[in-house]
Amino acid sequence: MKYISTRGQAPALNFEEVMLTGLAPDGGLYIPESLPTFSKETIAGFKKLPYNELAFEIMKPFIDGCIPDDDLKALIDDCYAQFRHPAVAPLVQLGHNEWVMELFQGPTLAFKDFALQMLGRLLDYVLQRRQQHVTIMGATSGDTGSAAIEGCRRCKNIDIFILHPHERVSDVQRKQMTSVLSDNIHNIAIKGNFDDCQSMVKASFADQSFLPEGQQLVAVNSINWARIMAQIVYYFYAGAALGAPEQEIGFSVPTGNFGDIFAGYLAKKMGLPINQLIVATNQNDVLHRMIANNLYEKHGLEHTLSPSMDIMVSSNFERLLFDLCDRDGAKLSAFMTACAGDEPVSLPDVAFAKARELFDSYAVDDEATCAMIAQIWDESEYLLDPHSAIGVKAAREVRRSTDIPMVTLATAHPAKFAEAALKSGQATAPALPHHMADLMEREERCTVMENDIKVVHQFIADNISAK
Ligand SMILES: *Cc1c(COP(=O)(O)O)cnc(C)c1O
Repeated sequence: MKYISTRGQAPALNFEEVMLTGLAPDGGLYIPESLPTFSKETIAGFKKLPYNELAFEIMKPFIDGCIPDDDLKALIDDCYAQFRHPAVAPLVQLGHNEWVMELFQGPTLAFKDFALQMLGRLLDYVLQRRQQHVTIMGATSGDTGSAAIEGCRRCKNIDIFILHPHERVSDVQRKQMTSVLSDNIHNIAIKGNFDDCQSMVKASFADQSFLPEGQQLVAVNSINWARIMAQIVYYFYAGAALGAPEQEIGFSVPTGNFGDIFAGYLAKKMGLPINQLIVATNQNDVLHRMIANNLYEKHGLEHTLSPSMDIMVSSNFERLLFDLCDRDGAKLSAFMTACAGDEPVSLPDVAFAKARELFDSYAVDDEATCAMIAQIWDESEYLLDPHSAIGVKAAREVRRSTDIPMVTLATAHPAKFAEAALKSGQATAPALPHHMADLMEREERCTVMENDIKVVHQFIADNISAK
């Protein structure tokens, strides 16, 4: 399988190459040139597969021989054995035809483990074979950093440097990152905000001359194709469990960078009968305004109780836009240039109509988020985290049919976001799962640094293990 850039001006790559790259050289994102599709008979057979076996069937065509089947199976088995629930992605029923899929059973209690546990293993495997060492550099406001660190803690061929804003991530999120003491894990707390961290990472990817000879940076944010691929699996898992291919299914997805929901869109194109995909956002609702009103217009960033969705520019939306622009790189580039300007932008009518066939959207503010957490607690004593609550609220507001099962992706464990639980009427902060109960007592390692890229670059150069 070949991967091409959305902007149409970069050479096609294979899976291994695409995983080791960030943005395409023309500024676009990589996507498969064509998608594998599964017949009704094949999808009917998915129902009897446990999660790891289904993951193999879904990922295999994308990896397309870059990793021998037996090795790929072993990587996948090891990866999803780290999840503490035997179903890996269990479904919990909230009401009639209404479900949440718990995607927070992995090591860092957020859905990003599904992709980053896999990405760490895939990278280490191909690097070992190539006898190559790489450096991962990333910025985090919380969840991505801890999931990337957990995904790479045992990788021999990777050093990982994660920048977070000093004293601006939650205690649980910081501890999850800084208590991983492996030699290849480097936490840097920058005296600045998340944007400062992200600009440093962007500048470092653009000019990698600070790295020792022969070293390169690899991206682990959701522009990395392998992350999207791993997320397609759980849509099929839920669909098969609830009666696909005979039965249609709807999904409501708490959305920030549009990575998770884009995987659902691909699942639909691969044959899963999805009748509706709901883009659920918080007050940072640029995607909701795009999908509801066909108006792309940037607003200032607001800090909310669902910080992992506090995003102004949704990078993966470009992957959908590429399809909406008839996979025409030149058309898409023109649209992206317009979006980067200050004027509001709209899609052509035909493209917008295509988007509306499948997507609905809804924005939920902090007050409504807390009301939803309280209501679900009241109905069934089930505690939602604020991101998942936004998904459930959006599903209840805009689902097209109550006859069709609706699955909200529950993206984080409620203990990760205790503030929202307390504001929603819980008497005490939700407890961490048993195996993490001692998290707050664990030893930490982290280097606090001035907001100065030269200092950061020197630190990275000094600490890369392969020289
Ligand atoms: C990252 C994240 C999201 C948003 O996912 P995208 O793929 O960026 O849309 C939602 N909820 C939680 C808990 C997250 O960590």
